[in-house]
Amino acid sequence: MKLYASSTIRDIKERYGFKLSKSLGQNFLTDKNIIDKIIDASDITEEDLVIEIGPGIGVLTAEAAQRAKKVVAVEIDRNLIPILQETLAEFSNVEIINQDVLKTDLNQIIESAGCRRARIIGNLPYYITTPIIMGILEGHVRADSITIMMQKEVAERIKSRPGTKAYGALSVAVQYYCTVDSVAVVPKEVFVPVPKVDSAVLRLDIRSEMPVTLTDEEMFFRCIKAGFGQRRKTLSNSLMGIGGVTREDVKAALAACDIDEKRRAETLSLDEFADLANYFSKGE
Ligand code: SAM
Repeated sequence: MKLYASSTIRDIKERYGFKLSKSLGQNFLTDKNIIDKIIDASDITEEDLVIEIGPGIGVLTAEAAQRAKKVVAVEIDRNLIPILQETLAEFSNVEIINQDVLKTDLNQIIESAGCRRARIIGNLPYYITTPIIMGILEGHVRADSITIMMQKEVAERIKSRPGTKAYGALSVAVQYYCTVDSVAVVPKEVFVPVPKVDSAVLRLDIRSEMPVTLTDEEMFFRCIKAGFGQRRKTLSNSLMGIGGVTREDVKAALAACDIDEKRRAETLSLDEFADLANYFSKGE
């Protein structure tokens, strides 16, 4: 059975009385090329654990299972569980967990699998792409890489460099934790149902060493949040948003870090955000 064929989705819907849920972001992949691209880019070996977010009817799961030691697929929709039990029946190394991934302890899954490495993959439900990515990164999930499909516009924000329109808090945060590589741009027509926008696949490799040295990680994120919270304001105004500082403190920080107070957050590099955060955390 070609799991990725539109006719298979139709057949499954009919036999199980399954209805695709828009609110759960169910846009299923029907293109073998794209499936192969995601799996190839994930570099899965037979020593690896793969955690898949949102398996749907199992198109990526089945391919990952042929390469990995173990696959744990976390799917929120309980109506998909009996379907996955059928479509993945031939794989003894697949475990399906019927849970919200945002409420799932991924480190516990990784620990109990006892594999050499953990890789995260998924064609993400678009309504929670950012919370999923930030949950993994801020939760310090001990995976090596995350190869995921998301809305093209979100992928562009993640990849973008200072001085561009798409550069924002998400870019700085993800680039702090990961190196980012583009895998593919995916036209909307390869999904059932067809979504409104195109997609893109990124591979994020979680860094073992951070690109900047921070005395206080929380202060770094406070600076990013304040700066981009009011991105049209100059830094001397927007950085007041970190709280507990006077305008004089902000001006002194910018001068000490050699940053023009008329600049805006969207022009600041990771290093400059780190310098500011380290300056402010010295004063606390
Ligand atoms: N992997 C399949 C594919 O590529 O065809 C399905 C991808 S579909 C875009 C997203 C999947 O994530 C759906 O199966 C949906 O039910 C599931 N999902 C949505 N919200 C979720 C959540 N909070 N936790 C786990 N799975 C979720």
